[in-house]
Amino acid sequence: MLSFKNSTILKILDYYKNIWALSYVSAVSHWDLETYMPKKGVVARGEALGRLSTIRQKMFLDKEFVGLIHMASQERGLSDEESGVVRVLLKSLSFYEKIPEEFLEEFENITNTTTVIWREAKEKDNFKIFEKSLSKIFDMNKQMAEYLGYKESPYDALLDLYEEDLTTKDVTNHFELIRDPLKELLGNIIKSRKYVETHELENAKYDKQKMSELNDKVLKTFWSDIDSFRMDISSHPFTTSFGKNDTRITTWYHDTNFARSLLATIHEFGHALYDMQSKSELEMTPIEGGNSLVIHESQSRFWENFVGRSSSFIKKFLPDMEKVVGKKLTAEDVSLYFNKVSPGLLRVEADEVTYHFHIMLRFEIEKGIIEGKLKIKDIPEIWNSKMKEYLGIIPKKDSQGILQDIHWSGGSVGYFPTYSLGTFLGAQWEEQIKKLKIKTDNYEDIKKYLQENIHQFGSTYTLDDLLKKNKMKFDPTVNIKYLQDKYSKIYNL
Ligand code: MG
Repeated sequence: MLSFKNSTILKILDYYKNIWALSYVSAVSHWDLETYMPKKGVVARGEALGRLSTIRQKMFLDKEFVGLIHMASQERGLSDEESGVVRVLLKSLSFYEKIPEEFLEEFENITNTTTVIWREAKEKDNFKIFEKSLSKIFDMNKQMAEYLGYKESPYDALLDLYEEDLTTKDVTNHFELIRDPLKELLGNIIKSRKYVETHELENAKYDKQKMSELNDKVLKTFWSDIDSFRMDISSHPFTTSFGKNDTRITTWYHDTNFARSLLATIHEFGHALYDMQSKSELEMTPIEGGNSLVIHESQSRFWENFVGRSSSFIKKFLPDMEKVVGKKLTAEDVSLYFNKVSPGLLRVEADEVTYHFHIMLRFEIEKGIIEGKLKIKDIPEIWNSKMKEYLGIIPKKDSQGILQDIHWSGGSVGYFPTYSLGTFLGAQWEEQIKKLKIKTDNYEDIKKYLQENIHQFGSTYTLDDLLKKNKMKFDPTVNIKYLQDKYSKIYNL
């Protein structure tokens, strides 16, 4: 059955291709900026991207197009995909209609300069340099929340920007469920006899060429259609998709700790697969690929945690890992290395157990500032006391504390919770796949399951609706149960 046949929707999709084309060019420019562009190109690229986004907004707000969207929203008997198109377009429309153009322009300018200031502050290890700009970012986010409107907390309006319908109450409830069990688990791990702060493989130097070959080999094992996909290097790994037939991921290489490169590659592959397995009919439409950050992160975390950290995966690629570090390894030891739990200062290096504490801390700070209960100048102190409370450690430098993430400098407030929620959901997909008795190294059946139940739909459904369709309910305790079972075995608890 054709997904799109309503005549208003067909008109919408036809016009939308202009907007899609602009987004497409922006995405390619952005990918190039992060990978190959000579440094000095950055000013012109920033200008071009800014203008493209203004043109895109104007095109979106074209009277006739807006009329068609409103008309379609009144139609009955739309297919799920058609309703999805209307839902996604109405959301963008309401954003553009509620927020004044001058405000968006100012926001864009401020975030561009703030990122530069953040980099300087981080290099110099000095929060003071960043404080005023951060204040401005949070003030503008507060203002944005007022423009957008909300029922209970202004933070709701910001969460909804990153995950449709997500509320402060939801996030608070989810974290309430996991905080104590996770604290207990972490406490037991630290007390256990097998606990180590550092695994020796973390400090082992590795051969970057061999590591890059391993990354390629793993990706080819997961996905044989190399003509629709490529991997490059960037300062921080990311995925971008220009359509299901051209999806790009990046990875990174360091001198030591090869798992960082390998697991990042697998994580990004999980994101890429969502876009590559979206159905062809959705190409160039507003619901192509996934736009729920929680569903997206559930895919990357699924591959990273359940496939990449599994013993079957480690056994399969053990000889390649030996080449990477240039010495004999045992699967048991690599497994301990890949699944080591120990509190650290940096979110991006955190293990499965401590990761959520990093997110809770950021969530509590963001919520506090947006609701007017915390002040920016007090944040470094609050950061330290929460780190002490959750992980028992305190950063000595701002660059390893409040200045570590790029998100706030880029204007994003309300984004962090989607990382934890995605991880929770990833565990639920794992549970489903286990029920079907699909093994962690049966990549074909895993991909098929994910395609049939998640990927093919692109953004047709909201997170809630996708779960309903799969007869599931969002449940963070599945992740907790998984962590308790897994780490009790590893640490003999
Ligand atoms: Mg991710």
